[in-house]
Amino acid sequence: MRFVPPVAVLVALAACGSTTPPEVTPDAGATGDASAGGDASSSSGERTLASCETQIATDAPEIFRAYFRCVTIETTADAIVISSRALPPHKSNYWGQGSPNYAPFDTSRGAEYRANPNTLEERAFKLTIPKTPTSRGLTVTAALIDGQVGSSQLEYPLGVAGVALDSVAIFNPLARPGDDIEAEKFTFDDYNAHPAPEGTYHYHTASKGPLEVLVAGGLAAQASPGGGDVELFGVMCDGTFVLGCTELDGSAPGGAALDAQGGHVHDLTNKTGTVLVADRYHVHVCPSGGGRKFTPEIQYYSACSR
Ligand SMILES: [Zn+2]
Ligand SMILES: [Zn+2]
Repeated sequence: MRFVPPVAVLVALAACGSTTPPEVTPDAGATGDASAGGDASSSSGERTLASCETQIATDAPEIFRAYFRCVTIETTADAIVISSRALPPHKSNYWGQGSPNYAPFDTSRGAEYRANPNTLEERAFKLTIPKTPTSRGLTVTAALIDGQVGSSQLEYPLGVAGVALDSVAIFNPLARPGDDIEAEKFTFDDYNAHPAPEGTYHYHTASKGPLEVLVAGGLAAQASPGGGDVELFGVMCDGTFVLGCTELDGSAPGGAALDAQGGHVHDLTNKTGTVLVADRYHVHVCPSGGGRKFTPEIQYYSACSR
């Protein structure tokens, strides 16, 4: 149905380090083998930021080219197309025992923490994000942020609604009918993620996973959410960026007051003063700082193509 112009030439970052900006190739030793089903990897077979497959079009905007890993990114005349295998480049109990990425569920956080019965599976997804999203002209009020699935036509869809810097899916904060996100959070692993019943591993909140991508790329110094460093988690299907307790330059959220889901509109500017995205709605997820706890509920821009 959708017209898709020819994609730009791809560059296999892992295999062709000499053609890529230094900030996206800090890891030596990746084999760049993205076609074998098994991950390009160390001898252990563990999936990591160094071993995962990353292919990003050279003409992709810097906020995609320099900030994302373990994904394929193509461009069209008016969109950024991000494809992910939805396989986290880090350890989790949800990989299942026997996986080189397996780590036991951390029960030291309290008796209420208990893994859900699901195992993460490869559930590839693709998001087509407009280069210039169209605003719905919304004011996101507290009345719209009710945590109830289906209470508004303006909600993000259930399932994959965004992609994190480390290729993990982002879901909205609305638990499936019959569940409550405040109860589900006790099934989150050390990366604040868990798999859906069909296996899609996903975030609903801040996580050290995307921040580890920033650290690996030299864009942040530490990966602890709320740690006062640069915090960017990912992008939603409509073009809304998901930031943490800081702006992209590491400063505290500035500009217009935050709306009921922690969002506002302004330029996203990096540490060197370069405007990476002009005049863009984004949300600040900052549970450790007493701010917004979860991913956005209301889709600010008109299109979500997945
Ligand atoms: Zn979930
Ligand atoms: Zn902001």
